[in-house]
Amino acid sequence: MYYGFDMGGTKIELGVFDAKRQRLWQKRVSTPRDDYQQLLAVLCDLTHEADAFCGTQGAVGIGIPGLPNEDGTLFTANVPAAMGQPLPRDLSLLIGREVRVENDANCFTLSEAWDDEFRRYPTVLGIILGTGVGGGLIVDGKVLSGRNSIAGEFGHLRLPVDALEVLGRDIPRVACGCGHYGCIENYISGRGFEWMYSHFYQHDLPAQRIIAHYQAGEPQAVAHVDRFLDVLAICLGNLLTIIDPHLVVIGGGLSNFAVLYQALPQRLPAHLLRVAKLPRIEQARYGDAGGVRGAAFLNLVNGN
Ligand SMILES: [Zn+2]
Repeated sequence: MYYGFDMGGTKIELGVFDAKRQRLWQKRVSTPRDDYQQLLAVLCDLTHEADAFCGTQGAVGIGIPGLPNEDGTLFTANVPAAMGQPLPRDLSLLIGREVRVENDANCFTLSEAWDDEFRRYPTVLGIILGTGVGGGLIVDGKVLSGRNSIAGEFGHLRLPVDALEVLGRDIPRVACGCGHYGCIENYISGRGFEWMYSHFYQHDLPAQRIIAHYQAGEPQAVAHVDRFLDVLAICLGNLLTIIDPHLVVIGGGLSNFAVLYQALPQRLPAHLLRVAKLPRIEQARYGDAGGVRGAAFLNLVNGN
C-alpha cells in the first residue's frame, strides 16, 4: 500500500493507493498552522488510521509546497508549522517507517508520469500554469530533484531574448517573488496572462473573461492570446531543448484553455533545433488529485 499526503497551507489530504495505483481511501483535515507537534500528531494519526483500514503498514510519501533541505529539514513558507523542522525524521520515528518528501509540483508530474498510458514515456516534463509557474521532471518513473531540489522550477528562468521580440524590448521586467526580475512566471502564468493584458490594453480583466472574449473573436483578446501563445511557445521551446522530453503535461488553471494543445505544436518547431521531433503535449489528467497520487507514488520505484 502507498500513502500519499498532500500537505497544503490550509489542508492536509491523505490518499491510500494499492499496487495498481487505484485510490482505495482518502481523508482530508485542516493543517495545524503554527504548532509543529500538532502537525506531527495529525500526520501520525492519519497514518495509523490508514494502517487500520489497510490492515498493513503502507509506505509514506509527502508532497509539500516548498523544498526538502539537504540537512533533512523543510522549507515550507506556506506551512509555518513545518518550516525549518526535521519533519521526515521525526515522523519516521513516530510511525516506524521511512518517509519521503518532495516538492508538490514534482508530485504533480510524478502522478501524471505514472498514468496507465503515460508511464511508457521515459522522460516527462510537467508544467503548471497556475497563479505562478511550477514544474517537475520525471526520468524513468522517478523524480529528478537535483542538488537543491529545485530542478523543474521553470518559472524562475528569465524571459528569453525571442520573447523580447514579441513583447517589445521595453517590456517591464516584473519583480518576481523570488527576488529577481523578469522571471517567466510573471508572463506565462495565469497571473502573467492577466498582467500582459493589462499592460498592453490598460484594462484589468480576469483570465476567464479574456478567454471568453477570445472565443467570441474580439480582436483585442485575439491579439493578446496570440502574443501569449508565442511567448509560451518560446519559453517551452527552451525547456524542450534542454530536456528533450517524450511527454509534456500541462496543469494549473490555464491548462483548461483548449487552444494551447493546437497552438503549441504549431508554434514550437520555430523555436527548436530542426532535427527535433515534438513531444506529445497533453493536459494533466488528475487535477487536484495529482498531489496525493504523486506523493504516494514517491515510493513506487524504490520501495516496490
Ligand atoms: Zn522568480
